[in-house]
Amino acid sequence: MNHPIYLDYNATTPVDPAVCETMLPYFRENFGNSSSVSHQYGFIAEKAVMTARRQVADLIGAEAKEIIWTSGATESNNLAIKGIAEKYRDKGNHIITCQTEHKAVLDVCSYLELSGYEVTCLPVDSQGMIDPDQLRKSITDKTILISFMAANNETGVIHPIEEIGNIAHEKEVFFHCDATQAVGKIPIDVKSMNIDLLSLSAHKIYGPKGIGVLYVRDRNPRVRPAPIIHGGGHENDMRSGTLNVPGIAGIGRACEICKDTINHEPERLNNLAEKLYQGIISQLDHVILNGHPEKRLGHVLNLTFGYVEGEALMLAMPDVAVSSGSACTSASLETSYVLRAMGISDDYANSSLRFSLGRFTTEKEINSAIGCVASAVNRLREMSPLYEKIIQKHL
Ligand SMILES: *Cc1c(COP(=O)(O)O)cnc(C)c1O
Repeated sequence: MNHPIYLDYNATTPVDPAVCETMLPYFRENFGNSSSVSHQYGFIAEKAVMTARRQVADLIGAEAKEIIWTSGATESNNLAIKGIAEKYRDKGNHIITCQTEHKAVLDVCSYLELSGYEVTCLPVDSQGMIDPDQLRKSITDKTILISFMAANNETGVIHPIEEIGNIAHEKEVFFHCDATQAVGKIPIDVKSMNIDLLSLSAHKIYGPKGIGVLYVRDRNPRVRPAPIIHGGGHENDMRSGTLNVPGIAGIGRACEICKDTINHEPERLNNLAEKLYQGIISQLDHVILNGHPEKRLGHVLNLTFGYVEGEALMLAMPDVAVSSGSACTSASLETSYVLRAMGISDDYANSSLRFSLGRFTTEKEINSAIGCVASAVNRLREMSPLYEKIIQKHL
């Protein structure tokens, strides 16, 4: 069987073979518990964890001791938001976020609302951008945290993180950034961007599933979220539990590879995505690119195919693996809340697919994908009475 062309890198990425190689010894001979430093097995594991802390820290401009291991970005977001909310309850109960955040931020905020926290969820414009002035005006003396993603998983839209960080810093409010889609793809520097807490996940950057990081600023200011998982006091008492040493070795190596490739790989992917986009619009009319035209991750294309239903289109092109909406909500067949927040009608949102390219995408695959998409859309439109009517009108 031929594998479908994988263009869903925003949902997850394959583990880079080099990452896999780095991990294997920690399943086998180096299986020690990194807390058991009374013998060599433990030392070796601890050393791997220390190396990985430095590798992750180097990619985002942090210190090794500011890296807290978690099970992934969902947990990191939970720890950041619930942890800050609980720890700094005396200072206030107000949190600011945005309508297009990942569910792992929005659902945590909704949960906190049930126990007396107040959440302001800022809107976005038709290109998916927030208004920094509106953010500034939303901050009150009760605000303890603002949480904005760096790059959106559905559209690739990049928020003005440095500007948001400056506002937060100026107003002395903690800034959490879900940078899961941005890390390794655009430069992220927690110091110059004034980020106090940052979430990232290995499986979005060619590492394994089930391991992630919460960066927690140690100085200027010192940030201390209350733990959400208790039991043993690992990770500076912020996240207990025996460390996932193979996963940690993997995420470290994955970050190191991202750092080594960030100067040229994004350009290659942007060119391939542009080729895909041009190829599609040269063969099809009524195609709209969603999200900001420039302030966007170039390797993500969220496209509306007018007069075609997104789910039907995916079924009509089984040789191309893409997604409608995000992997987290697509199971429920709901209209994308991200596109809806951008003012896109339900009809258009339901006609949208996300193409996300990655490290193993080739030009040959892009050429085939263009053909698959164009022929599938044409076939479906031939069956669409609505499209017929539009065409008739224009003849
Ligand atoms: C994938 C993703 C998450 C969730 O990460 P997991 O490691 O799968 O829990 C959170 N936020 C964003 C923006 C994502 O893309």
